[in-house]
Amino acid sequence: MKKQDNYSAFTPRAEFMIDVQHLSKKFGKNEVLKDINLTVKRQEVVVLIGPSGSGKSTLIRCLNKLERASGGEICIMGKNIYDADMNNNYLRQKVNMVFQHFNLFANMTVLQNLTIGMEKLLRIPKEESKKRAIDLLKIVGLSDKHDMYPENLSGGQKQRVAIARALAMKPEIILFDEPTSALDPEMVGEVLQVMKEIAKTGTTMIVVTHEMGFAREVANKIVFLEKGELIAEMTPDELNANHSHPRIATFLKQIL
Ligand code: ADP
Ligand code: MG
Repeated sequence: MKKQDNYSAFTPRAEFMIDVQHLSKKFGKNEVLKDINLTVKRQEVVVLIGPSGSGKSTLIRCLNKLERASGGEICIMGKNIYDADMNNNYLRQKVNMVFQHFNLFANMTVLQNLTIGMEKLLRIPKEESKKRAIDLLKIVGLSDKHDMYPENLSGGQKQRVAIARALAMKPEIILFDEPTSALDPEMVGEVLQVMKEIAKTGTTMIVVTHEMGFAREVANKIVFLEKGELIAEMTPDELNANHSHPRIATFLKQIL
């Protein structure tokens, strides 16, 4: 198969935490990602923006194999994710994801939402898992919510639990898929604040968001997707200086 040939010819570039080359993704005949090239270095924060349907979620979901690429190469921490010996549970632990709609376990308390993965996937003993969970909930400002169930939390609190749960898995990379889009406006700030703190600790992050304030303050680079194509990549400084890219200017006007 041609794709296999391509994969074996691919030489991982170890200087990149995430190394995507010529990625394409089709759903049936619909090509939703076209020849995407993207690299992310360790500790970098990359903000991914683009109109609805441009392929942002699909792109980040390819990185931990929630979607399978149709072509091209994806290398995480120097290893091709399609290598036969790549364990998907291991990959998803190292490349964790925070979703727009939180995806918490509704039948578990806040504390259990954090400990379950540590116990079952990381095989951390119960007491130690609990201790780590308590520490992480403190970091996201939810020390008083251990025994609550998700349904009794605000959206902002739920998302902070989801972020703490991602951190519990000791990830190398966290992918955020519009983490504040489902929140009431007054709760956006508390979640962005937690994300800023995580960025400071040096966790490599890709953040799909329309929060341009966050992008300007935290991102090392901002990547623009349109109709499945990566149309521009720039630093916040370049974004501020750049008045020459009409499609980006139009898009930014729409979201601001
Ligand atoms: P974004 O996150 O930028 O809004 P998505 O990655 O969700 O965009 O979607 C990109 C395109 O892929 C859209 O046209 C969407 O309808 C299509 N798509 C996404 N997921 C699927 C799927 N599971 N099956 C078929 N088409 C899909
Ligand atoms: Mg999306």
